[in-house]
Amino acid sequence: MIDLHTHSDASDGSYPPSRIVEEAAALGLEAVAISDHDTLAGYDQAAREPLPAGLELVCGIEMSTKLRRPSRPRPKTVHLLGYFLGDLPSTEFRIWLAELQESRRDRNRRLIAKLQSLGVDITLEEVQALGRSLTGRPHFAKVLVRKGYVPSIQAAFDVYLDESAKAYVDRWEPSFAEGVEKILASGGLPVLPHPNRLLRHERDGMDQILGEMVDQGVRGIEAYHSEHTPKEVGHFLDLAARYDLAISGGSDFHGDAKPGVLLGTGTNGNLSIPREVLDRLRDLSPSRL
Ligand code: AMP
Ligand code: FE
Ligand code: FE
Ligand code: ZN
Repeated sequence: MIDLHTHSDASDGSYPPSRIVEEAAALGLEAVAISDHDTLAGYDQAAREPLPAGLELVCGIEMSTKLRRPSRPRPKTVHLLGYFLGDLPSTEFRIWLAELQESRRDRNRRLIAKLQSLGVDITLEEVQALGRSLTGRPHFAKVLVRKGYVPSIQAAFDVYLDESAKAYVDRWEPSFAEGVEKILASGGLPVLPHPNRLLRHERDGMDQILGEMVDQGVRGIEAYHSEHTPKEVGHFLDLAARYDLAISGGSDFHGDAKPGVLLGTGTNGNLSIPREVLDRLRDLSPSRL
C-alpha cells in the first residue's frame, strides 16, 4: 500500500516530515509522498534523513493555481499536484516556487490589514508563528479560533477567509497551464488532485475541463482520495481510461489539522492504494527539458 498525498508542518499539516516517514513505515506503507502546498521544504527535510527499510519517499508538491472559466467572472483556485519520480526539481523550478511564495507573503500582509480594518486584533507574527516556512489561510483560521472570534476553523473560513467571505483578499497564482508547464519542464508529472472538488464547483461539467487540462499536459488524475465515495472513484477511473490518464491516489493527510483523515488508509479506512499505481506514474514521468 502507498500514500501519494500528504502535508507536513512545512505547509498546513501538523506532523514534521520525519514523523510522516516514521508513521508510514510503521503502517507498512511501501511509498509515501510529501506533497506540501507550494513548498518542497518538507520533502527536502525528510530526504536528508536515512529512510526506514522498505519505504520509498516520493517528492511531490501541491500547487495553488488559477483556473479561468468562461462561465465565471473571476478565476478560481485549483490545486495541481506534481510528482518528481525521475529527476528531482530543477533549480529553475525552485526559483519559480520562491516567486510564488513571495506572492503568498504579500497576500498575508494584505489579509492582516483587511482583518485589522474589520476590527480583528491579529498580527502577522502570530500567524507566521504557526505557519513557519509557509503561512496559509488555515493558520489564520487557527488564530481566529484561538482568539474567540469564531467557534471553529470552518467558521473562520465561512465568515472571514473563504473566497466569498468578508476578509478575503486575492493573490497572484500561476495559471493552471503555467503550473503544468513548469512541472513538466522540470521533469515532473502533473496530476489533478481531488477532482471531486472541481466537479462540485463546475457546472459546465468535468469533460470539457479535463479535456483542456489534458491538452495542457496533465498526465494523471487522483482517482483515489479520502474524500471520494466508491461511486466517485469509479467515475474518475472511467475518466482516466477515457482520457488516457494515469491514476494516482493519496489520503491528503494533514495530521491533527484534519483529524478524520489517516495516513495511508484515509477516512474510515476507505483507501488501500496498490504499489502498481506508483510504478505506472513512474513509467509516464518525463525527463527534464
Ligand atoms: P491559501 O493557500 O493560504 O490561500 O489557503 C488555502 C487552504 O485553505 C486550502 O488548501 C484549504 O485547506 C483551506 N480552505 C480554503 N477555503 C476553504 C473553505 N471554504 N473551508 C475550509 N478550508 C478552506
Ligand atoms: Fe492543505
Ligand atoms: Fe488540495
Ligand atoms: Zn492536499
